[in-house]
Amino acid sequence: MAATKTLERAPAKIETFDVLIVGAGISGIGGAYHLTKQRPGTRFVVLDELESFGGTWLTHRYPGIRSDSDLYTFGYRFKPWVGPPIATAEEILAYMNEVIVENDLAPHIRYRHKIVRARWSSAEKAWTIEARRTDSGETALFKANFLWMCQGYYRHSEGYTPEWPGMADYEGRIVHPQTWPEDLGYANKHVLVIGSGATAATLVPAIADDCKHVTLLQRSPTYFIPARNENELANTLRELEIDETWIHEIVRRKILFDQEAFTRRCFTEPEAVRKELLEGVRAYLGADYDIDVHFNPRYRPWRQRIAFVPDGDLFQGIAAGKATVVTDEIDRFTKTGVLLKSGKAIDADLIITATGFNLSALGDIAFEIDGEPLDFSRTVTYRGMMFTGVPNLVWVFGYFRASWTLRADLVADFVCKLLAHMQRIGARQVNVALRPEDKDMAILPWIDEENFNPGYLLRGMHLLPKRGDKPEWRHNQDYWAERKELPAIDLDDAAFVYS
Ligand SMILES: Cc1cc2nc3c(=O)[nH]c(=O)nc-3n(C[C@H](O)[C@H](O)[C@H](O)COP(=O)(O)OP(=O)(O)OC[C@H]3O[C@@H](n4cnc5c(N)ncnc54)[C@H](O)[C@@H]3O)c2cc1C
Repeated sequence: MAATKTLERAPAKIETFDVLIVGAGISGIGGAYHLTKQRPGTRFVVLDELESFGGTWLTHRYPGIRSDSDLYTFGYRFKPWVGPPIATAEEILAYMNEVIVENDLAPHIRYRHKIVRARWSSAEKAWTIEARRTDSGETALFKANFLWMCQGYYRHSEGYTPEWPGMADYEGRIVHPQTWPEDLGYANKHVLVIGSGATAATLVPAIADDCKHVTLLQRSPTYFIPARNENELANTLRELEIDETWIHEIVRRKILFDQEAFTRRCFTEPEAVRKELLEGVRAYLGADYDIDVHFNPRYRPWRQRIAFVPDGDLFQGIAAGKATVVTDEIDRFTKTGVLLKSGKAIDADLIITATGFNLSALGDIAFEIDGEPLDFSRTVTYRGMMFTGVPNLVWVFGYFRASWTLRADLVADFVCKLLAHMQRIGARQVNVALRPEDKDMAILPWIDEENFNPGYLLRGMHLLPKRGDKPEWRHNQDYWAERKELPAIDLDDAAFVYS
């Protein structure tokens, strides 16, 4: 037998950057924009495992996919939003594309790069990033001094579907909206949508006209705000031919002003807010509809995200008899549908599980710090952005009660300021560390369940960093406080350790 010649594999080429941004969603593209404007000359690259930009808005392709908060605040502060407040995924992608084109960001972005490992070396003061190319399977290596984590908070490859007894018996198709098949036919079918959040509320009106009937099955109700998909102030300012840059700023301020008042009321007079929200729904469904059973949640308003329902389309579908809401629990799946704990059965040709996300802390990347695997859950967060023992890394984790992007912009300012500070003092490494006065601080889970408690967070809390009970050591989820606090951070504070 001929001897097989062993070919020595040439070591993969390593590309070196100052900053590596993980993710080309709304946060990563925003980060790239801010770096080019606030830190021109920075050598940076954006890596994303998907085939294009957009993150959430690219992954989700189910019918009707749209934002549930307004785009004046979900849009960037630097790029006017000129469309209706609630936008489709397509409109959001078009907006992001304009940001990329107008600012020549495309040359900085590499798609189809799934980052699998990130190793920090204190000797080199650099991260070594290993990415798997999803097209060729090859490994691409990068070095960067700073990692800007814009990977979102959930696994993009698959959504969360609970395991119900008897699922294998069901003879129809079960689909999660996060992985919506292009060829999925639902015309003239009985469709069962399981879930009660924004996704279910979007999907049901979007498919109701084509289906024979849609049933929305929820274990417990959710709050919604039905309202016209218009912003009257923006309309008036446009009639007055005010410049769009001004309109964007004025309308943002007005929305944020109103939201602040609303959020505060949720805490000071939750029952009054509950009543108002239920009245909004009743206006569509009429006095005879059992609002209490189907739309009166057990939790206080704002303990979970409140979805905006443009033009009340979900409720219009229910009122028209095209969609039915059932509030009950699944006992088991059957051959033809589901059997509920009440004993009632629902038959369906197609079952859609709008049951949420799988939380993914740090993008499912295996992290190592100087050869030691990083256990993220053992770190304590500095304002939900940095983590004790994790050098040169910032994570963008947005708001639940306000648009995510408001925080992406604020965190971007912080990163740029931090990078400038490090350059000024000649530091190549920054860590956050508990100060002597923090040593006795109570260490708590990432978020207070009393404050905010959606399922994906509760399921994944053990994976997330800890918070302290001081303002510096937690993500307070309060845009209105943070818009002043984050720009005022003292980078010479003892919480920052430079070398
Ligand atoms: C259906 C839906 C509707 C929503 N609507 C709203 C809304 O109206 N308002 C609001 O404020 N929030 C909303 N959210 C929350 C939303 O996810 C965020 O607001 C925002 O889009 C997150 O942006 P992001 O860029 O931080 O993360 P993502 O959009 O999640 O993007 C992260 C990117 O990082 C990439 N990535 C992750 N891990 C890796 C890795 N290891 N290697 C390479 N690339 C990686 C992913 O491929 C992805 O492209 C919604 C979420 C969903 C699912």
